[in-house]
Amino acid sequence: MPRHRSLAVYKAKRDFKKTREPSGRRRVSARPIFVVQEHHARRLHWDFRLESEGVLKSWAVTSMPDLNPMSRHLAIETEDHPWEYATFSGTIPPGEYGAGRVIIWDYGTFLVERPLSDMIDDGVVKVTLKGRKLRGRFVLVRTEGEGEKSRWLFFKAKPRVVGLKVPELKKRA
Ligand code: MN
Repeated sequence: MPRHRSLAVYKAKRDFKKTREPSGRRRVSARPIFVVQEHHARRLHWDFRLESEGVLKSWAVTSMPDLNPMSRHLAIETEDHPWEYATFSGTIPPGEYGAGRVIIWDYGTFLVERPLSDMIDDGVVKVTLKGRKLRGRFVLVRTEGEGEKSRWLFFKAKPRVVGLKVPELKKRA
């Protein structure tokens, strides 16, 4: 099963007669979107999702993302979600997978310099987020495992030093 193109795991976990979460369609877009959904499940987390190849690549971030380059947020890779999930907010009913309230915490578009699926395979994902809260370059680095449930660190990249000229030291005679 190609791991970047499947919603089978997502669908298997849900009863779409009971939950209002989307059942899954694909789309292809020139301006990929991202979303962060604050999810008041058994354990509060922030679902970080990046559009890629018609689905949303997803991580459950276990602490609230922020703009401090010194922060390190543990992020667990989760199953691909359908693209329409990016606009989902509401309450997943008791007894259903991920029961609890979902709030859209941030959203926007993002830029990448390489295909997202390649970076995921390599375990280092660099994205420039253009959200309402999260803006600038962010990094995900895999620390353990592969695929679903692999562990990553999510954080803001240190600002790039561009065009900074270091003054040359004058030679002293
Ligand atoms: Mn979640």
